[in-house]
Amino acid sequence: MALIVCKFGGTSVASPERLRNVAKRLVARKQEGHRVVAVVSAMGKTTDELVGLAAAVNPNPPTRELDRLLSTGEQVSMSLLAMAIEARGYQAMSFTGRQAGIVTDNTHNKAKIVSVDSKRILEALDAGYIPVVAGFQGIDANGDITTLGRGGSDTTAVAVAWGIDADVCEIYSDVDGVYSADPRICPRAAKLDEISYDDMLEMAGAGSGVLQMRAVEFARKFNVVIHSRSAFSDAEGTYVKEACDMMEEAVITGIAHDTSEVKVTIRGVPDATGVAAKVFSALAGNSVNTDMIIQNISEDGFTDISFTCPAADMGRAKETLDRVVPEIDAREVDIDENVAKVSLVGTGMRSTPGVAARAFTVLGENDINILAISTSPIRLSVVVDAAQVADAVRCLHTAFDLDSDEVFEETQLSAEEIAAKMNKGR
Ligand code: ADP
Ligand code: ASP
Ligand code: MG
Repeated sequence: MALIVCKFGGTSVASPERLRNVAKRLVARKQEGHRVVAVVSAMGKTTDELVGLAAAVNPNPPTRELDRLLSTGEQVSMSLLAMAIEARGYQAMSFTGRQAGIVTDNTHNKAKIVSVDSKRILEALDAGYIPVVAGFQGIDANGDITTLGRGGSDTTAVAVAWGIDADVCEIYSDVDGVYSADPRICPRAAKLDEISYDDMLEMAGAGSGVLQMRAVEFARKFNVVIHSRSAFSDAEGTYVKEACDMMEEAVITGIAHDTSEVKVTIRGVPDATGVAAKVFSALAGNSVNTDMIIQNISEDGFTDISFTCPAADMGRAKETLDRVVPEIDAREVDIDENVAKVSLVGTGMRSTPGVAARAFTVLGENDINILAISTSPIRLSVVVDAAQVADAVRCLHTAFDLDSDEVFEETQLSAEEIAAKMNKGR
């Protein structure tokens, strides 16, 4: 008998029918003799719709109120799931973030968990209930509701798993595990049986939305084993855990892509000491998260500086640069929204030379122009034109021998749901 946390994402609970399917699966786990705790996301596109509603009344909604609003999405699904479980003759009890003992700091919209007190969950389990926890939310020291950032229900699940000392944290979604690339744009992607925390962290950080990066960070820190698997089938998924010997063999574990960033270029920047510091301090001061930074060689004392940042930060980046550019006597600012980042990830890259050369050659052979490059010991990222992102992922996937013999087939999602997933982060 195991103690298991089962987290179901938005697509998996998008309709009454899917909620009933989740209830059925939870009950089946319990019938197998396991002790089960559920964590749920808001139904379907609820969170996006709530964000849209807020924006319709205030283009810059106060973050405290936004959290209050967004937290309602998960409270709808937790209650409905508890009802659906009861309808199958099993006892269930739902818990908000506060009731589940998830205490965070007060950084609204992207709060960090500071403590987890799972007393009530454990009591409910002991009394024979299936506890159902609302993902994505917590409470700060003042008693105000906070949320954990988009995709944050994954982090709730890992935190609850740690709080109750679960054997495994199962994260159910619309794909049956972590693949060597997003199977929706690279149908030859291969499902991985297991992946190390380090590789998964890098994949998530580079845009693989299948697991939220912070959930993986939490899991690595507290050694929580994650099993990423399908909400619609019983197939074994991918275990995310400490590295084992076999994992060291692959040079490249996977390829991630990210379409949620834009590229900003400041042209005609005087090549003088302290200018970059001034630009990036101003951006940081306005909460713009800069990612890849490139400075060209200067000509006649002037240079261009480019950086990427989340599309969500674009307004603040523009506002900041409109102010700073005249101050530093630069010429102009140009923002390119049609870009995407493609990253090769693998702990094996550390000890293998030539990865960059091979990647650049393959991209060149496929007429894909590289707009920016950045590297870490276990990641190589390039920025390309957004229209070429799928081609870039696919040709690199083939070149690095990652292609599977099987072709990914969509089984459950509607065309509208797939389109919404592809536009995530925009
Ligand atoms: P949920 O709503 O259940 O949290 P997400 O949409 O956050 O689910 O995550 C699942 C999606 O992640 C899949 O639909 C898939 O398109 C995408 N994805 C991106 N990269 C990968 C990858 N490497 N392996 C599997 N899925 C991936
Ligand atoms: N509902 C939240 C979101 O859409 C949290 C989650 O689904 O994990 O981001
Ligand atoms: Mg998710």
